[in-house]
Amino acid sequence: MSNKQQAMSKTAASDISGQCWVVKIGSALLTNDGLGLRSEVIGGWVNQMAQLRARGIHFIIVSSGAIAAGRARLGWKLRRVSLHEQQAAAAVGQTGLIQAYESAFQGHGIHTAQILLTHDDVADRKRYLNARSTLRTLLELEVVPIINENDSVATDEIRFGDNDSLAGLVANLTEADRLIILTDQAGLYERDPRAFPEARLLSAAQAGDASLLEFAGPGGALGRGGMLTKLKAAETAAKSGTETIICSGLEAEVLLKIAAHEQVGTLLSVGRTPLAARKQWLAGHKPPQGRLTLDDGACKVLTEQGKSLLAVGVAEVRGKFKRGEVVSCADRHGQEIARGLINYNAAETRKIMGQPSNMIEQLLGYVDEQELIHRDNMVVFYHQ
Ligand code: GLU
Repeated sequence: MSNKQQAMSKTAASDISGQCWVVKIGSALLTNDGLGLRSEVIGGWVNQMAQLRARGIHFIIVSSGAIAAGRARLGWKLRRVSLHEQQAAAAVGQTGLIQAYESAFQGHGIHTAQILLTHDDVADRKRYLNARSTLRTLLELEVVPIINENDSVATDEIRFGDNDSLAGLVANLTEADRLIILTDQAGLYERDPRAFPEARLLSAAQAGDASLLEFAGPGGALGRGGMLTKLKAAETAAKSGTETIICSGLEAEVLLKIAAHEQVGTLLSVGRTPLAARKQWLAGHKPPQGRLTLDDGACKVLTEQGKSLLAVGVAEVRGKFKRGEVVSCADRHGQEIARGLINYNAAETRKIMGQPSNMIEQLLGYVDEQELIHRDNMVVFYHQ
């Protein structure tokens, strides 16, 4: 390799190192038109992920295909099935799905983990924080989490319904850098390319742009999502500063091309700074349930150094709140300087306030997190 090439590959490697990508893979891609799982195609994506893993990218996979694979295993390709039969098929298919990923990743010495979620798991803030901590821990352990909806137990009230929405929320939950939606289409077209072969592919747009909705046709037969759910997922992802790429999972080396900044599929950009997006995300949650008064030192590290809030910096606790609820943080003069999701409830916070983090275990008998509010879950307001 020439010096120039070496320098270029170094730049390319360093600008993606440490990033987190959520890769959503649809049913139609994974299962050969309902004929069963395509292990060789899965192997191809896993191979690319392993190469990018070595360049410092963390991956989370949101994979569909459980119901489709289960139907194929049970020989129900054409059969109309009831909701309960679909849920049973999901249980059958999920094992095969995980097995396929697990063995492909094992070939590269990478461990995988299965996480099955329902809508309730992220709507409830306590469970939201728990899911978030587990995902963070898995990424720290260099494990690739593979997420699907818990179809076997999800009833209508608690279901996402489609894995595009789930992937958007996972991108939110982890504040991923990218959400890549692998589908059987090359991206978002101006018109449905199945009906209008001359339709043009949109290469870039802004997530949440309402004018895109008219381009979104209905979904295919196997999965539940269409382009509409993908656009909605991009809008959700953008709220935490995540850009989305909708592209074909069958394009050769698609993930490597994205890493090399090549034009692939449709890029839906965030269009706002992540901080503004995060503010909006927190503002979208209920009004603060409590208020913390911080000492001068804590105010300084929050506003000037962007650090997490530790119990030691809290001088007063007001209100009743649970773990995972939004609390406001004010300085000694009552000026709100930050807002965030708190890791301990009001009674616990009162016990540990003013104390160093290494005392939490002694004071409460357990430690959930070292930080009272992690900086990733906090928005800081800057006052002139
Ligand atoms: N969770 C469903 C499955 O794994 C797929 C939902 C979707 O297609 O979006 O079969």
